[in-house]
Amino acid sequence: MPLIPLRPLLDHAAANGYGVCALNVNNMEQIQSIMEAARATLSPVIVQASRGARTYTNDIFLRNLMQAAVELYPEIPVVMHQDHGNAPDTCISAIRMGFTSVMMDGSLEEDAKTPAGYEYNVAVTREVVQIAHSFGVSVEGELGCLGQLGTGMGEKEDGHGAEGKLSLDQLLTDPAQAVDFVQRTGIDALAVAIGTSHGAYKFSSKPTGDVLRIDRIQEIHSKIPNCHLVMHGSSSVPEELVAEINKYGGAMKNTYGVPVAEIQKGIKAGVRKINVDTDNRLAITAAIRKVFATSPEKFDPRDYLKPSRTAMQKICEQRMKEFGQAGKAPGVPRKSLAEMAADYAAGKYGDPAKPSKPYNAFKGQGGAATAMGH
Ligand SMILES: [Zn+2]
Repeated sequence: MPLIPLRPLLDHAAANGYGVCALNVNNMEQIQSIMEAARATLSPVIVQASRGARTYTNDIFLRNLMQAAVELYPEIPVVMHQDHGNAPDTCISAIRMGFTSVMMDGSLEEDAKTPAGYEYNVAVTREVVQIAHSFGVSVEGELGCLGQLGTGMGEKEDGHGAEGKLSLDQLLTDPAQAVDFVQRTGIDALAVAIGTSHGAYKFSSKPTGDVLRIDRIQEIHSKIPNCHLVMHGSSSVPEELVAEINKYGGAMKNTYGVPVAEIQKGIKAGVRKINVDTDNRLAITAAIRKVFATSPEKFDPRDYLKPSRTAMQKICEQRMKEFGQAGKAPGVPRKSLAEMAADYAAGKYGDPAKPSKPYNAFKGQGGAATAMGH
C-alpha cells in the first residue's frame, strides 16, 4: 500500500475514539522498530521527520527507506509527516519528496525561534494549506508556543523552539482564537500548547493540573470538533530508562515526562496525534550503553544496534496499545492523495477564506503577548 495522508487516518481515529503516536525517525533502524511494532500490534502509524532529521538522513535516503517500509509491510497504513516545517519552502520540498502530511509551524517565525504574530501564523499556514491540499497532502498547524507553564520558559530542541521567557498567553492555546485559526486556514490538525515541551526535561516534579492543562484540550475540542488536535512533547520519559542509562555510565538529570494516563485523558478529550520521540531515544541509548558497559570487547555495530532496535520496538508497541491504535490498521480507509485532492477541491472539508495579503506582508511583527491574546 502506498503512504496515506494524515487526514483520513485521524478521521478514523476520531470516529473510533483512539489516538495515534507520531514517531520521529532519523535512520533505518528506527523505521524498522516502528514497522515491526505496527505489525505486531496491527496499528496504523505516523512516521515523522523534522528538518534536522531530513538533513541528517538526506531526503533521498529517507524517501527510499519509507518506500521500503510500505513495500515490506503492506498491511500497515503509514503516514509520512514533516514535523515542524518552519516555512512554506520546507513543506513544499517535503511534498516533492513524497511526504503525505506536513506541519507548518507558523507559531514561530522562519528562524524557528522567534514567536510570530497571529496574522503571520494565519497567512503562512493558509498558504501551505492551499498548496498541500491541491496535492491531497494534509496540514497540521500550531497555535501557541510550547514551553513550561511553571517557569514560563520556551524550549528549544533540534534547532527548533521558542527562546527565552514567554507569557501565559503565548504558552496556552486560546480556544476562541483556535476557532478563528481553523476557519481561516482550513488545516486538518492543530497542535495545541497546554504545558508540554520537547526533549527529556519537561517537568521538575510529577506534573499536576496547573502545569499540564489537559482541561484546555476539552475546551478547544468542543469549539473545533472537526479539526484534530495534536499533542507535541508527549514523551513519558520512563524512570526506568533514565535509571538504566545512568546505571551504565550516563549522566541524565532527574526529570518527569507526560504520564501516559494524562495522554489517555487527552485522547478522551479529543487528541488524535501524539508526538513521541524522547522515549525512543532513551530506549535506544539505554540499550547501547548496556552493551558497551557489559560487553566492552564487542565492536560490531550490529551487537548494539540490534538490541537498541528491539528496545525501541518495545516502547512503540506499548504506546500503540496505550493510545488505542492497536488493532485498528485494517479499518483505516486507504485513501490516495488524488482522492483527497478531489475531496478538498469539492469543499468536503470546508472552504476557508482567501488570505487578504501574502504571508510575507506579516513577517517580523513579533510575538508580543498582545499578538497571541484576545
Ligand atoms: Zn513538536
